[in-house]
Amino acid sequence: MTVESHTATVSTEQKQIRDQRLRKRRLGMSFVSYQGTLVIVVLCWLAGLLPGKVVVEFFILAALINGAFFLLIRHDINLRFRDPSMTCPQMVASLLPPIWVMYFLEVAQARTIFLLIAIVPALYGILALRTRQFLCVAAAYLVLYGGLVAAIWLTRPTLIMQKLSVELIQVLAFALVMGQIAIIGGYISGLRNKVRKRNQELQSAMQQIRELANIDELTGIANRRRLTDAFSDEISRSRRSGSPLSIALLDIDHFKRINDQFGHPTGDAVLKHIARTIRESLRETDCFGRYGGEEFLMILPQTDLNGARVKAERTCRLLRELGCDRIHPGLRISTSIGVAQFRNGESSHETVQRADKALYMAKTTGRDKVVDELDTAASMDQPAESRHS
Ligand code: GH3
Ligand code: MG
Ligand code: MG
Repeated sequence: MTVESHTATVSTEQKQIRDQRLRKRRLGMSFVSYQGTLVIVVLCWLAGLLPGKVVVEFFILAALINGAFFLLIRHDINLRFRDPSMTCPQMVASLLPPIWVMYFLEVAQARTIFLLIAIVPALYGILALRTRQFLCVAAAYLVLYGGLVAAIWLTRPTLIMQKLSVELIQVLAFALVMGQIAIIGGYISGLRNKVRKRNQELQSAMQQIRELANIDELTGIANRRRLTDAFSDEISRSRRSGSPLSIALLDIDHFKRINDQFGHPTGDAVLKHIARTIRESLRETDCFGRYGGEEFLMILPQTDLNGARVKAERTCRLLRELGCDRIHPGLRISTSIGVAQFRNGESSHETVQRADKALYMAKTTGRDKVVDELDTAASMDQPAESRHS
């Protein structure tokens, strides 16, 4: 498994755990809202509209429905469903306890109270359902309510027949309200999806900008900003682990002549060719980028000065032997490289300065070579006359 796919799996699992926790919390909220309805049921009982046992039955039914959904989530069974949030089934099921209560109401008028309350669960779907799903839920509500009226009509026909016209208008009004909630809800959830999609696009654009800000436009390798960050990161790692860390600063020799002789586009092509060649020769843990014009920097973690020198010599040879015939027949290049090892307690700037000094020495002592910080220190120790000879 690659690092990326492992990271993706871990984040998917974390998201799933978060989502499941959120679903349980929502279920808790819906149970609390049942308690509000329970108060109304108790008041109906106190007003003599209901037998006392219905209050208990309402509570048991609400607890059973919530408990069933809780178990589905607890055992991750809901994850097998197309909609793991089970929004539609929860909305329909939440209507069952009020329907149960409505059946036992002694006064037909009082049913309006619970029709009003039945609208609340429909509002839960506003953020999740599309218009079509909403209309299905609304249809299920109407079927349930129609079934209730039919059941009352069969068992206590007088309760319905007393005011049949009111009964019909009530059903029609309920259908109208549910239909409108479905349309508005579908519109709101559509807007929400649009916002979510825009957010995703924005995030990927931000990611792209972040990447572009770290890439050198011409060569496609890391730019100076990225190199600076990478070097700071490697310094922290080296401080923690105590492992050596070195850098090599490369500068193409007489690059100005290439531009002058063959033109700027040829110079650009050479820079790209060099960047690709060096990048392909490095380890995955090494960081390499364009430090400036025709200067490149290699950051070599877990490498001491000797190791870095060997690596730099190899690169110097590689570029010396590099064929640039496809860019311009017979074109040859060479590089000078300065090498330094990071010392604990110093800043990144100080290490780069020592590498730069070594590079300068490589330039002034003939080019096409590698000089490390020990060479520059040794040359400083020599008497002035021998240094200039
Ligand atoms: P030295 O051996 O001392 O390093 O000589 P040099 O000519 O390489 O060094 P100098 O600093 O005099 O010139 C560097 C040249 O690199 C000058 C500049 O035009 C060229 N250069 C810098 N960036 C680019 C680039 O993006 N494309 C091209 N084609 N040339 C560039
Ligand atoms: Mg230069
Ligand atoms: Mg140069």
